[in-house]
Amino acid sequence: MKKVALVYIVAVFVPSLVLAWLAVRSLRDQQLVLERQQSLLCQAVADAKAREVQEALAEHERTFKMSVNSLLGKRNPLDAARAFDERLRKVWPLAEVGFAVDLKGEILSPSPYSRPEAKKFCADYGRFLGNLESAEVYSNPKQALGNVATVNAPPPPPQEQQAEFDRRYGLSKTPQARSVVAQQQQLQSQQRQQGSSSQNPLVSKTPQPRSVIPLQPPPQAVNFQNPLVPEDNQASKVAAAEAEFRQLMGEDTEGTLARFVDNKLNVLFWCRPARDAPVVFGAQLALSRLVAGLRTLVAQVEPALAGEICVALLDDTARPVAVSRPGFGASWKRPFVATEIGETLPHWEVAVYLVDPAKLTRSAQALRLTLGLVIGVLVLAIGVGSWLIVADLNRQLTLARQKTDFVSNVSHELKTPLTSIRMFSELLAEGRVADPPKQRSYLGIITAETARLTRLINNVLDFARLERGEKNYQFQKCDVVSVAGETAASYRPHLEASGFQFECELPETPILVNGDPDALAQVVVNLLSNAEKYSDRRKEIALRVRPQTRPLPYVEVQVLDRGLGVPKGCEQKIFEQFYRAHDSLSSGIQGSGLGLTLARQIARAHGGEVVYEPRAGGGSCFSLRLPLRAGP
Ligand code: ADP
Repeated sequence: MKKVALVYIVAVFVPSLVLAWLAVRSLRDQQLVLERQQSLLCQAVADAKAREVQEALAEHERTFKMSVNSLLGKRNPLDAARAFDERLRKVWPLAEVGFAVDLKGEILSPSPYSRPEAKKFCADYGRFLGNLESAEVYSNPKQALGNVATVNAPPPPPQEQQAEFDRRYGLSKTPQARSVVAQQQQLQSQQRQQGSSSQNPLVSKTPQPRSVIPLQPPPQAVNFQNPLVPEDNQASKVAAAEAEFRQLMGEDTEGTLARFVDNKLNVLFWCRPARDAPVVFGAQLALSRLVAGLRTLVAQVEPALAGEICVALLDDTARPVAVSRPGFGASWKRPFVATEIGETLPHWEVAVYLVDPAKLTRSAQALRLTLGLVIGVLVLAIGVGSWLIVADLNRQLTLARQKTDFVSNVSHELKTPLTSIRMFSELLAEGRVADPPKQRSYLGIITAETARLTRLINNVLDFARLERGEKNYQFQKCDVVSVAGETAASYRPHLEASGFQFECELPETPILVNGDPDALAQVVVNLLSNAEKYSDRRKEIALRVRPQTRPLPYVEVQVLDRGLGVPKGCEQKIFEQFYRAHDSLSSGIQGSGLGLTLARQIARAHGGEVVYEPRAGGGSCFSLRLPLRAGP
């Protein structure tokens, strides 16, 4: 038993508990798991949309270059540079200002006097395009970083040229500003003098904060310098660099650059026919027209997700310039996930918002509840199963013990009468008892012990038959009064010989039932035998047969004694097989634990019952109740 219990605990109970614990632990992470899944999905949408925007920008860059090429034709670049602004705007509507600048840094187009936009452009970009000052710009690192501008760079412009610039574009500077520019130029010329190809002439700025802070970090948020440290979700991936226009161009023939002028984003495309071409052509983009083109692109969201999310294109101030769900409102700076577009539109982001953020929590709660219930039911099933197994094991153990006791009890019960029979028959056979009354008494003992043996063997055999379902009853109309009377008469001599006062109370008239007389007699004998066995000093036994009417007419055969009585709590157990309330060892009373089991089974086969009641004044009262008209 101990081994089975141990195996059960190690193989079933402990693993089940561990599994349940793990399941409960994983339940707590359900919301995180759902959020992660949702964020992966939304991040994929944001990344794809950002890529689409980048592709659209690249496409614009290609069309710009084609437009420039068509304007150039076979013409000399210096000729083509004349009135380039007007001509480009005609063929390429995205251009707000078209510009052409020669290698000396002179702006050939637009003329600052042509229109206000041109004048502003010259004021904003004159010095930068003329390589007179560096500016904080965002450019594609592939085109800018690592390109050494010193190789083809002209010498720093003389002071007179700078003065001419200032005069032409009305950019007279304060002495203070001049000294800052002078310092910058000094620094740049130092860099040029030191200039080896391993040194980057662009001065990269430290990363700036993002315009939005997504609620969910991007799934691939790892620091590339140290993959173990997660990347700061709040830092922008695009970084500005301080550079002159010529440095930015390096040896490339085309590129983009973005710059914030008066906190307003300007995007410039530029290209030159060849690396050594004397003129660089470019355009400042009309952002409003660019955004108008991107609106349809942003509005296209997969139908399955369209009801769940809103995709928005946010500018550098986190203001939505294009949204997929018109009328949708949210805290624009706190999207669910977001992806930066890149250097061409620095600090612009494609952001994804959940239409119903609480839905995620609700789904997680529902999932948690369902899984919790399933786990609860499983744990309960394991618990109930364990309890049933333990109870069954206990029952089996008790039964096994009772069977062992039964074998030893029956052996003992067989041995005791056999010893008496053998002893008295030997005495009589050897003729050692000459006295006739003594001889009769010895013969009486032999008869009684034989009857006891017969009873015991009958009980054991009957029990075996009942267990196998082979017990057959001979039902017939039988008189309970005469069955009880005959049994009492046959038992009386034995009882009286043992010093019992036996009182028999029988009705005058017969009481008929449908039953097996032998089986019913066996019940009465078993009850009388128990009354005899469990009687102590007061040797009084009574047998009563009484007809009863309530609730239905039945007959009651009662066997009463003044003996030990059944200990409290054992009143029902005494009817179980092999159960003995009075242990052989402590009470010294032999028994098999089968008498009452058989009595009850026979009574039930007759539609009746055997019940126990403590007798008033001490002792026991066992009643066999049989329905008067009942049959099997
Ligand atoms: P046994 O062979 O042990 O008598 P039974 O099935 O006849 O087996 O009885 C079961 C148990 O019921 C007995 O062991 C005894 O403890 C209790 N019992 C039966 N009859 C009486 C009685 N008349 N007085 C007290 N206890 C009794």
